[in-house]
Amino acid sequence: MVPESVCIVGAGVFGISTAIALGKRCPETKVTVVDRLEPPVTDGTSVDTTRCIRVDYKDPVYAELARESMDIITNDPDVSPFFHQCGMSFVYDGGNDKWADIWINGKIAAEKANEGNPGKMRYYDSPQAVYKSIHGVDSEPFVENPRWNKGYTNYLNGFIDAEKSMKAYYERAKTFDNVKFVFKEVDSLMYDPGSRKAEGVKFVDGSTVAADLVIVAAGAWSCKLVNLDGICKSSAIEVAWYKLTKEEEEQWGKMAITTNLSTGINLFPPYNGEIKCLRRSPGYKNTLLVPNPDPTKQEPVQISYPRTIVDHPTDWIPQDAENALRDNLAEIMPVLAQRPFDRTKLCWLTQTPSANFVIDYHPELEGVLLATGGSAHAWKFVPILGDKVVDYMEGKLDPTLKEMWSFAEKLQTTSDNGSAPRMDGEPQELREVVRECPN
Ligand SMILES: Cc1cc2nc3c(=O)[nH]c(=O)nc-3n(C[C@H](O)[C@H](O)[C@H](O)COP(=O)(O)OP(=O)(O)OC[C@H]3O[C@@H](n4cnc5c(N)ncnc54)[C@H](O)[C@@H]3O)c2cc1C
Repeated sequence: MVPESVCIVGAGVFGISTAIALGKRCPETKVTVVDRLEPPVTDGTSVDTTRCIRVDYKDPVYAELARESMDIITNDPDVSPFFHQCGMSFVYDGGNDKWADIWINGKIAAEKANEGNPGKMRYYDSPQAVYKSIHGVDSEPFVENPRWNKGYTNYLNGFIDAEKSMKAYYERAKTFDNVKFVFKEVDSLMYDPGSRKAEGVKFVDGSTVAADLVIVAAGAWSCKLVNLDGICKSSAIEVAWYKLTKEEEEQWGKMAITTNLSTGINLFPPYNGEIKCLRRSPGYKNTLLVPNPDPTKQEPVQISYPRTIVDHPTDWIPQDAENALRDNLAEIMPVLAQRPFDRTKLCWLTQTPSANFVIDYHPELEGVLLATGGSAHAWKFVPILGDKVVDYMEGKLDPTLKEMWSFAEKLQTTSDNGSAPRMDGEPQELREVVRECPN
């Protein structure tokens, strides 16, 4: 049942999409969306120069949802201009490990997505062919690129400008009479005294918003608002941008988004005169002691919580992150390997054990619904996430999705489903390795 009043904490893909769905489907429900900052939120996980939109999931459930979402994006006049169908290449080192399996499964899924249209696929069987897929067929491969041996491109996929499109979705959410926005930081959820029944949220300035239901869609920040032990973990991965010359923009203008599964690096084609690269590394955590979010418990709890460029504008990615990006580039885009970064950031994310999202009532609380756990792959589902949240509230969510996105599923699963491949290893403590911007 959708209650009379709902407060959504977080205006990223989960929060805004839910606000739009409630705006469309439940005009009688009073919806208040709160965020620390006005969207597009500079340090929100949903906001960046680019996010990949792809359909070739191995898991048929996500594959179908991804196709449905891509179709909506390509037919949406407000966001389709920001979608660039440049293709996505997946490469690996040719070894015989888990990356080979992920690559093969990805290739099969890509071929399935292009059934009847094989022209959308390209294959590379040598380091030279992989090199040429980035630098052009006439380029002269001269580097040692031992980890870039086999690849394919799926030209159905592409990237979207994740800042401009979040702005467009925000503008859309504002058009509904029953949806309003408040820009303040939530300190905690408000509870009926002595109980675990939420009654709204309290901001850090002491003001409040009362609501029958609080939807926690605060992404990597959610773990400070409610107990998510065993459900979601927050960490960050490194991202860096290089400025390009006009000639370089032209030279690489036709490259696809290129991911090396074996090394975790992800290179985007030139966009607005820049190349963005990121690495799906084990990443970084920022351990803090915070007040217990459970209203009936006193002892503080330890969580990993975002430390971002908003509060720490001079933060720069750690040295080992820089070294790993440069080592990768030395093999495949050598002219960038020594070039200074234009800027860098650590992008925070929240991951569930299985990489399945969380859309479920909190089992220990009343009046609290979680819509989070993006696990590094939720952006592309923005057109449908909110409808799934409202379906859930109305008791209409498809049983497979309901189970997949439940708390219970997270507590039973120990390995990820390959939807967003992760590197092995534990995140490092950020405060021990963080650096100041060199300029
Ligand atoms: C580097 C990187 C690359 C990725 N690439 C892709 C990709 O290519 N394709 C893809 O589909 N997905 C990708 N993802 C995943 C995707 O971006 C995320 O799953 C998704 O954006 C998460 O959205 P969200 O709404 O949960 O979080 P967010 O966008 O972070 O939204 C949460 C919001 O809550 C607000 N908030 C938090 N705490 C409070 C508080 N106390 N008070 C008020 N407001 C608060 C924050 O300000 C924030 O705006 C990637 C993720 C990362 C990190």
